[in-house]
Amino acid sequence: MKLFIKNLQKTYPNGVQALKGVNLTIETGMFGLLGPNGAGKSSLMRTIATLQEADAGSIFLDDLDVLKDKAEVRKILGYLPQEFGVYPKISSELMLDHIAQLKGILDTKERKQTVAALLDRVNLYNDRKKHLGTFSGGMKQRFGIAQALLANPKLIIVDEPTAGLDPAERNRFYNLLSELGENTIVILSTHIVEDVRTLCSDFAIICKGEVLRNGNPDEAVRELNGYIYSTMIEKSDIAEYKEKYQVISAQMKSGKLGIRIFSETHPGAGFISAEPILEDIYFHQIASKMDVITL
Ligand code: ADP
Repeated sequence: MKLFIKNLQKTYPNGVQALKGVNLTIETGMFGLLGPNGAGKSSLMRTIATLQEADAGSIFLDDLDVLKDKAEVRKILGYLPQEFGVYPKISSELMLDHIAQLKGILDTKERKQTVAALLDRVNLYNDRKKHLGTFSGGMKQRFGIAQALLANPKLIIVDEPTAGLDPAERNRFYNLLSELGENTIVILSTHIVEDVRTLCSDFAIICKGEVLRNGNPDEAVRELNGYIYSTMIEKSDIAEYKEKYQVISAQMKSGKLGIRIFSETHPGAGFISAEPILEDIYFHQIASKMDVITL
């Protein structure tokens, strides 16, 4: 199964151009969507999820015209939005049963089985009688995934799903998504760049409504082999270094500033060659569109 996005454009009534001709082909597996706040990630995901219209362009899931045949898309779509609200005074089991009815699973016995199997899959079966209001952030997210998985979706979209999760919950959640990615298209947006390297077979960086980079994360990182250097400097010297070098990221550490630069030749004394990471690609690409280092 493949999702073909061609020349997708969207301008909101307030004049913000959120998508400026996005082209992407997304295959079965985990696809990571990276970009700063306001890049257009949610706009793109909501459009694929049939929740908003595009001004121009097309989206096809194999032969299915996503922008036209919305009802057909919804049958095979699982969507976990950024803000997933739950009714606090209802149990996860009852809530999921209710959503299953809305999704068209009308047979009571089938629904009961589906709900139990899904709660088990996301490791919430033992908590099925608890009110959703008592759930931790991680439990709520897992519940969100359970509802997104109703009716065996072929396309799963999750918008920044790990915000507010602790590291163990994040791992559990990602393991679940990876399993799903074995035979479904899973589109995941996140701010945690290295998670994309670990989890995703493909990724895209978008910024100001445009795709800046698209491909396999490992290949992208390999391209930077031999071009990344790092050093520690005084914070007050950053302007000078930015003037002289292509600084792609800077981070305070024990009162000093650790910087990473892109350079085709060895930049000289003080710098050491560094192993490239996906964040280097991310900041390198984003830096061409906006100033990412604000110290
Ligand atoms: P991201 O998910 O990458 O943070 P969004 O798709 O939410 O980006 O937003 C892209 C741009 O569109 C931002 O400038 C945002 O303020 C604007 N935007 C998003 N939704 C709306 C809306 N409903 N009306 C007007 N502007 C919007």
